[in-house]
Amino acid sequence: MTPESVLQLDRYKGWMERFPSTTEHLILNEHVSTVHNVSCHKIQTHLNMIHPDIFPPLKTYKSKESRADLSVPNVRAECLLKFQLRPALEWQRLVDAIPSYNTEDFVKEAAEVPNFLENVEKCRDICSKHPEVVFLGTGSAVPMKIRNVSGTLVNISPGRSVLLDCGEGTFGQLCRQYGDDVDQVLSRISTVFISHLHADHHTGLIKLLRQRQRALVRQHVIGDIMSWLGQYHDHCEEILGLFNLIPNMFLCPGAEAPKEKTQAFIQFQTCTVRHCKNAFACSFDHQSGWKLAFSGDTMPCNAFVHIGKNATFLIHEATLEDGLEEAAVEKRHSTTSQAIGMGMKMNADFIMLNHFSQRYTKIPIFSKDFTDRVGVSFDHMRVRFTDFKVLPKLIPALKSLFAEELEEMEERRERRELKSLRSSGSGEPIWSGSDTSEAERGAKREHEAAAASMDAKRLKLS
Ligand SMILES: [Zn+2]
Ligand SMILES: [Zn+2]
Repeated sequence: MTPESVLQLDRYKGWMERFPSTTEHLILNEHVSTVHNVSCHKIQTHLNMIHPDIFPPLKTYKSKESRADLSVPNVRAECLLKFQLRPALEWQRLVDAIPSYNTEDFVKEAAEVPNFLENVEKCRDICSKHPEVVFLGTGSAVPMKIRNVSGTLVNISPGRSVLLDCGEGTFGQLCRQYGDDVDQVLSRISTVFISHLHADHHTGLIKLLRQRQRALVRQHVIGDIMSWLGQYHDHCEEILGLFNLIPNMFLCPGAEAPKEKTQAFIQFQTCTVRHCKNAFACSFDHQSGWKLAFSGDTMPCNAFVHIGKNATFLIHEATLEDGLEEAAVEKRHSTTSQAIGMGMKMNADFIMLNHFSQRYTKIPIFSKDFTDRVGVSFDHMRVRFTDFKVLPKLIPALKSLFAEELEEMEERRERRELKSLRSSGSGEPIWSGSDTSEAERGAKREHEAAAASMDAKRLKLS
């Protein structure tokens, strides 16, 4: 039982050589690397088949020290190596007695257990891939190159997805996300929630319904969009047979609604929010214990805190940066800090900010109250609930990638604050200005979008 470093000493070697030449030296030290715990390796291999990250494969450790060169007869020990004294003196190194293992054999053995592989497959689907949230459009008002308008796909299980809002271009975003698999994805969408009738939240719906028709079993549309779809049906092409419509009001807490319409949506709740007339937020509970809440467009709203209480994942609009509170009130949207504050009131596990004004082309401005429970959405971003811890850690990399844009936006903010100081007392709102900054252009785009929305309303009334 001599360490290798001692075996290498000439003094020690000399001592060993003083034994008769018939003496065999059994060396047992850190160089013994035989696996002695095969069953431990076996169970880890089986568990690893269930989840490779939670149950990582075991490693073997070999000492880095070189072995001493010995001139005396010696035997290096192995686990379960035997030395027999009677009837004859001999080493017994039975192949079966000295443990060894082959991972492939373990895998084969587990694969033969009834239902094991099928359940592993299900497990993988459910644990690692679902639920997953795919952001298809994270901008507000008008579609832009980098951020499309509202559309968020929630893949609840391998066979069922829900789409939260469906702005113009949502089908195109789905094609870019899923390529040739888009038909499978479309056929899994069982429900579309339309939060309100602003154009950036629903004008992609007809295209989506049409595209889904090929693989369609009637899908549910939750929203107040009947008059739009009815007009399209009456004047353009038949579409009313492609969905069941459930008015948002039917799913509000305490609502009296026909059971046959809502019973499939027991876990789906809506509430009116502070945006435009008939604007709704929603939340839904999954039987496996998670809850998702989606704000649609709104100013901070207590009714939404109520239906979103203890949400696992909150998707909240954060149209404007901090400092633009007046503009946010005027447009009835939320600022970054207000959105984060809503998540804190709800006690949400994770808050994903969404629906950014197009003035924040690539990235929104971060506020001071960002915590490790807050993330920022991007088009084509896919988030699984296991990613919550990772998302905030991406922020430094995002900040350096978009450093130039962030700096520009900071400068705009400073200019705006300076102007507001100068004009304080004049009654001029702090967010308006006559310069040609991007903020101004962004605001102009929003006014245009609002005008387009008014046009659309007029069309609806006609
Ligand atoms: Zn909007
Ligand atoms: Zn809106």
